[in-house]
Amino acid sequence: MIMKKKYWLILDSYVFIWSNKDSVLIYNSLSGKSFALTITDQLSLVIDRLQVKENLYCIEISSNELVNIEIKGFIKLLRTHFCGDLLDQSISNKKPLVYIPELNINEEIDRTENLVKSDAVFGQEVVRNLSEITFYVTGECRVGCHNCDKTNKQLEWCCNENNELEINSIKNFIRKNKKNAIQRLNFFGGDLFNYSYLDELLQYLNAFNVNQQFYSHYTLLPTKASIWKYIQKDNCNLNLLIDGSFNEGLLIDAIETTLKHEIRANFNFIVEDEDQYEYISDIIEKYELSSKIQPHYNGSNLKFFKDHIYLTEEDLKKPDLSKREVFAHQALNTNDFGKLTITPDGKVYANPKFPALGTIEDEIRELVYKEMDQGSSWRRTRDMEPCSDCVYQWLCPSPSNYELAIGKPNLCHVKP
Ligand code: SF4
Repeated sequence: MIMKKKYWLILDSYVFIWSNKDSVLIYNSLSGKSFALTITDQLSLVIDRLQVKENLYCIEISSNELVNIEIKGFIKLLRTHFCGDLLDQSISNKKPLVYIPELNINEEIDRTENLVKSDAVFGQEVVRNLSEITFYVTGECRVGCHNCDKTNKQLEWCCNENNELEINSIKNFIRKNKKNAIQRLNFFGGDLFNYSYLDELLQYLNAFNVNQQFYSHYTLLPTKASIWKYIQKDNCNLNLLIDGSFNEGLLIDAIETTLKHEIRANFNFIVEDEDQYEYISDIIEKYELSSKIQPHYNGSNLKFFKDHIYLTEEDLKKPDLSKREVFAHQALNTNDFGKLTITPDGKVYANPKFPALGTIEDEIRELVYKEMDQGSSWRRTRDMEPCSDCVYQWLCPSPSNYELAIGKPNLCHVKP
C-alpha cells in the first residue's frame, strides 16, 4: 500500500493573511508587497485553517490536497514570494513553531488606559501619547481667502475668526508639557506674524529645542528682522500657504524675500484640478521650491479626487508598510494620533472635524485621557463598512479628513 505523504504548510512570521468570502490577501512586510487571490471552496479550507490563531501559521497538508490546482497555485505563490514554505513531514514530523504577527500596540494603549485610571500614575503615563500641538494663535487676518475656515478642517491651513489666544494660556499649556513627549509645535494664524504677543511668544519658545513650525499665508510674511532671525534657527521652519487663486508676482516676491533672509521655506500649495496641478508643478520646478501639494475638496471636484486621489488595487500591491505600521493601522489613526489642535477661541480638539475635548485652560492629561477613552479621532480606524469587509483594510492608510469632507468612508476604486 502506498502511504499518503503529509506536509507542513507554514507562513513566515513577517507575513499577514486576510480574507473575505471572495478573496485572500497575503502581505509580506519585508518586501512590502501584497498578493491577492480569488477564493475557491477548496482554497478556503486551507486559508481558514491558516487563519486559526491556535494553528500558529502552520497546518498539515495532505498530498490529496496538493492535487487541487488552486491550492497548488497558492503554495507556489507563497514560496515564490518568500511568504511561506511546504515541508515534507518525512523530513520532520515535529510541527514547526512560528511566531504569528500579533497586534500589541492596542495592548499598549489599553494598558495606558488602565494605568491612567489609577491615581498614582494619572498624568505621568497618559500625556506620553501627546507628540504634537498646533496653536491657532490668532484668527485675525486681512487677506480673506475663499473658504479658509473650511479648508483648515481638511488640510494644514489658516483660519479666519475674531479671536486671539492669551499668551499666558499658551505658555501654561506648553509648560505643562515640559517633561513629556512633545516633538513638534505648530503655529498658525490668521495673520500669524501680526499676533499681538508674538515677540513674547518667540522669547518664550526660545528656551525649547523642540521642532517649531510656523505657517503663514504667502502674502503675510514677517516685517521685523527679529522674527526672521528667530525662524532661521535650526529647529524652526517657515511654511507658506498658497491658496488656489494665488498671484504669481506676489509669490515671486515671497520667494525672493525668503531667499534674502536665508530661509529655505516650504511652499504649501492647494490644488483642486488638473490644470492647477500642471501650473503649480511648473512653478515649483521653475523656482526649485521645497514644496507640498495638498489636494483640496471644494464640493465640486469629486472627479479630480476619483481620477487622482482614490486608491486603486494597483496602489495597494506595494504599500511598503512595516509590520509595526500595519499594527498601527489596526489600532489607531496614524494621521491624528498624538496630536492636539487649539483654536483662537481656546478650544482644544484631537481633530477639528470632531467636537472639542475641552479648553486650553484644562489639564492636558484630562484632555488626552478623554480622547483616548471616549474620543472619535485618535482611534478612528478602517473598522467601518465597506472597509471592514475588505482584504486591504489594514494596508490602506488610516481614514483622513478627506473622507469626512467628501462624506464617504472609503476613497478607493476597490469598493466603489
Ligand atoms: S479604502 Fe476601504 S474599501 Fe477601499 S481598499 Fe481600502 S479598505 Fe478596501
